[in-house]
Amino acid sequence: MKNISQLVLKRSKSKQPKLKLKILSAALLLSQTFLTALEVQAKPNPNSLSYSELIQEINQEQVVKVQIDESNQKALVTLKGQSTPKRVSLFERNPELIARLRSKNVEFDVNRPGDNAAIYGLLTNLLFLFLLIGFLMVIVKRSANASGQAMNFAKSKARFQIEAKTGITFQDVAGIEEAKEELEEVITFLKQPEKFTAIGAKIPKGVLLIGPPGTGKTLLAKAIAGEAGVPFFSISGSEFVEMFVGVGASRVRDLFKKAKENAPCLIFIDEIDAVGRQRGVGYGGGNDEREQTLNQMLTEMDGFEGNTGIIVIAATNRPDVLDVALLRPGRFDRQVTVDYPDFNGRKEILEVHARNKKMDPEISLEMIARRTPGFTGADLANLLNEAAILTGRRRKEAITMVEVNDAIDRVVAGMEGTPLVDSKSKRLIAYHEIGHALIGSLYPGHRPLEKVTLIPRGRAAGLTWFTPSDEQGLTTRSELLAQVAATLGGRVAEEIVFGHDEVTTGALSDIEKVTTLVRDMVTRLGMSDLGLVALEHDNNNSFLGYDNRRGEYSEDVAASIDLQIRALVMQCYNNARKILENNRPLMDHLVDILIEQETIEGDHLREIIESYQKNANIPASV
Ligand code: ADP
Ligand code: MG
Ligand code: ZN
Repeated sequence: MKNISQLVLKRSKSKQPKLKLKILSAALLLSQTFLTALEVQAKPNPNSLSYSELIQEINQEQVVKVQIDESNQKALVTLKGQSTPKRVSLFERNPELIARLRSKNVEFDVNRPGDNAAIYGLLTNLLFLFLLIGFLMVIVKRSANASGQAMNFAKSKARFQIEAKTGITFQDVAGIEEAKEELEEVITFLKQPEKFTAIGAKIPKGVLLIGPPGTGKTLLAKAIAGEAGVPFFSISGSEFVEMFVGVGASRVRDLFKKAKENAPCLIFIDEIDAVGRQRGVGYGGGNDEREQTLNQMLTEMDGFEGNTGIIVIAATNRPDVLDVALLRPGRFDRQVTVDYPDFNGRKEILEVHARNKKMDPEISLEMIARRTPGFTGADLANLLNEAAILTGRRRKEAITMVEVNDAIDRVVAGMEGTPLVDSKSKRLIAYHEIGHALIGSLYPGHRPLEKVTLIPRGRAAGLTWFTPSDEQGLTTRSELLAQVAATLGGRVAEEIVFGHDEVTTGALSDIEKVTTLVRDMVTRLGMSDLGLVALEHDNNNSFLGYDNRRGEYSEDVAASIDLQIRALVMQCYNNARKILENNRPLMDHLVDILIEQETIEGDHLREIIESYQKNANIPASV
């Protein structure tokens, strides 16, 4: 089908140049006649005579032949001993001329007006007619093509993919154990439906996989088909949505028809939200095409008996926008959430993808998993691939931790840039980063530092990395305050060293981060004097994409929220300032090292701090 439509498209495209050619040649023709006409009038032609010269020549009997063109009021005069005739303009003086020619016995002939003019007139008319017909034909053909295209689409078989064997098993899917467990049952439905039908149970028809992109929904569906050993029919919701009404619906019909012929089998509808949105809502009051497609899908799902051996699995990351009719029993009544993998999940996924790669035995998948909270299965697969590419580029035998860490840095923070040369701004960035690093290391309850670097990445001029906290764990109020202080540390260091007026815009994202964090502490986490009230709702609810919903509260409360936020930030700011002022020599020392080495690893930094504290005998923390 794909081929046919492409062919039609190509054909109608190739028409365009032809049309252009026609217009072009017509224009050329016109311009040529204009051009020559202009030339005739502008240039004095050496091959012409004036009327009086002609009379003179006739009188001297030098003229052999005269051809008079009455329509143009011109004559071509052939003189004795000359082969090329000369032009003469006549201006209504033909009778006089003819009389004179007769009297001198000069050969002449006359083109009556009408002869030529009529022919030219006819020709131009014909030319226009042809052009017009050409235009019309092109237009008619194009529209015929367009409707033909529509007919082709409607007639087409659905653009779905069929895989007789997916070759993927549950072994290839890791880290999403709950989802796997729930879906084990589906395999049994497909493999041994008798087990359930014998006792009168109806086998569910549809399963909806809900989860953010890249968490393995497609993979999971394929693994089910692979485990059950049934064909895998897949189509993406967006492929149903066509310009022509009724096409999507016919695709659904075709898909289910083919599936029934091949039962038992599994139908996978990816991105079902593209068709399965609530009907009759949204811009313009809904989309006829989508509604028809959705209705067709509902009809098809109602149409087949529960036990024909077809199971429909659909995937979406927006379950909130789905039409309720899709979710009622008998359709996608089973819903399985496929969420971001946790630490153990990430480790298992890494194991799956490390299987077919040459990994250095020293490599620690656990460390990688620890550094990658928030990564999906697809991110992790991509990460190991990036590391493998880096390894190849460095001509190494096997992937080592260095490549993996570089790949993580790149995925998280962007491409590595070239470091600055030593300058005032490099020094300022160094103080900023050391400010973060030092507070992060000295503030009680802060996550350990991983490294601090002056090598720019993405849009950041320098970076301080802390070991990510495991997303599963709970975070205490003091840990959050430590985080706020460390995030402010960059700006505080700038202020202490370079003065209040020399601070830079580099702290922009730090300040934004601090504000959201502290705001959450006040309005959602009950960690301020305002008490245990949720004043605002989650506004970036993981992958569900809810709108930003501001809580309902009075102006007074809004003002006190602001006061609380300010108080918490000030408290952290003052603490950070105290730490850095008390440890100024240590900060200067670290900045020198950082400028020289460009990167300080966490362990190294901790050693430096320790020896400094021993030598200086000063307590390094507040
Ligand atoms: P989704 O359909 O949820 O967007 P995919 O199933 O297409 O995500 O995942 C893309 C790729 O990421 C897979 O082909 C696989 O290589 C990898 N991947 C994702 N999740 C997992 C997982 N849980 N276990 C192993 N590999 C995974
Ligand atoms: Mg997918
Ligand atoms: Zn910063």
